[in-house]
Amino acid sequence: MTYRARYACFAGCGEHHELDEVIYRCRNCGSLLDVEHDVEALRDRAPAAWMNLFERRWMRTEWPYGSGVWGKREWVLPGIDDASIVSFAEGGSNLLWAERYGRSIGLPDLWVKQCGNSHTGSFKDLGMTVLVSAVREMIRRGRPVRAVACASTGDTSAALSAYCAAAGIPSLVLLPRDKVSVAQLLQPLANGAMVFSLDTDFDGCMKVVQALTADGSIYLANSMNSLRIEGQKTVAMEIVQQFEWEVPDWIVLPGGNLGNVYALGKGLMLMRDLGLISKLPRLCVAQAANANPLYRAYVAGFDRYEPITATRTSASAIQIGAPVSIDRAIRVLRATDGVVEQATEDELADAAARADRTGMFNCPHTAVALAAVEKLIAAGTIDPSQRVVVVSTAHGLKFAEFKGAYHQGRLDGVTSRHANRPIELPADVDAVRRVLDAQPPPT
Ligand SMILES: *Cc1c(COP(=O)(O)O)cnc(C)c1O
Ligand SMILES: [Zn+2]
Repeated sequence: MTYRARYACFAGCGEHHELDEVIYRCRNCGSLLDVEHDVEALRDRAPAAWMNLFERRWMRTEWPYGSGVWGKREWVLPGIDDASIVSFAEGGSNLLWAERYGRSIGLPDLWVKQCGNSHTGSFKDLGMTVLVSAVREMIRRGRPVRAVACASTGDTSAALSAYCAAAGIPSLVLLPRDKVSVAQLLQPLANGAMVFSLDTDFDGCMKVVQALTADGSIYLANSMNSLRIEGQKTVAMEIVQQFEWEVPDWIVLPGGNLGNVYALGKGLMLMRDLGLISKLPRLCVAQAANANPLYRAYVAGFDRYEPITATRTSASAIQIGAPVSIDRAIRVLRATDGVVEQATEDELADAAARADRTGMFNCPHTAVALAAVEKLIAAGTIDPSQRVVVVSTAHGLKFAEFKGAYHQGRLDGVTSRHANRPIELPADVDAVRRVLDAQPPPT
């Protein structure tokens, strides 16, 4: 059986394009594009047959099934040649039971999908393996692509430069100066990307990269490019598969440009349309209060949306005021009875610190989602008996400056209630013992 996918206009005006065309928006109406699969053809396998196939491939050594994304290849990018695939065995990240933290907030069935446990330390790898593989296939078929470029808040650029380096394709990344972490700046430099540090914010970098890629000779890797969504949507299938094909009550994730919530919703709806699941979880997008255009639109009943100028947040990867995928996000939130919550700098830093005290090591974006879960429990929107999954979007080690500033009490607008500092002493056992003996007994 051969499966097919092509671009369709997201607004539904009827335009279609082949996936190897260099195109990001509908030529007719300017809307974003969507990868449309031939769902009728995919119905040739029964739900149980798809489950068996996916279970058989799950995290195998056989190329390319070390990747959770390519294990679902028929639903992602059917027809791509194995030799074009550029993969770092992304996907298949652990889904951990956050037992102690969950109990501490009155939610014993809380789980965290650790998408940051990935090659470049964020979920962006899930989408980038698809995009760079598609570009490599275009180049192998003779299409002239000089380079691949993106604007980024730090994680897309790390993923793009790593996958391009693996494929030997030049990459360019545009970063807002002083608004990404040291690790995020070093990743593309180490991988040999051309790195532009621009005196603007993410939204400013986005404008430059769109102009730079307008003539088609440089391929655009931002999430307005729908190929990335196809890889990112496999997180939905992984979560359900890891629960033995049962659907949780809620999935909560941080959102900035809002491609990821669309990807999650798209993955869930495909599973429903193919009969693998019979209900959808409710979705929650969590935003930083300093970068909350979707939250504002939600409060207004999604009738009104205004881009804003986002202000500084520790959750720097979601410091975005004009999200490209706003319409996509609203569509899936409406389809899943979804909600939007926000977290202040103090709320996110406090949630990160308390969760870290239970053994996690959360990035600030994941902390926005954790703070949102706490607020939804307090509001009675999430019931304590429900099963909730938080999508952790990046590894905490990429955000060491955030942790350091918190524990030194240097984060603006944040009270460091759980700060922990090294105790500096001479190398003398008695000095260590004196400090230990002066500790209050554990409570
Ligand atoms: C990109 C990113 C997000 C936001 O994803 P969107 O698709 O832009 O909403 C959240 N957290 C981290 C760590 C990211 O890198
Ligand atoms: Zn259109």
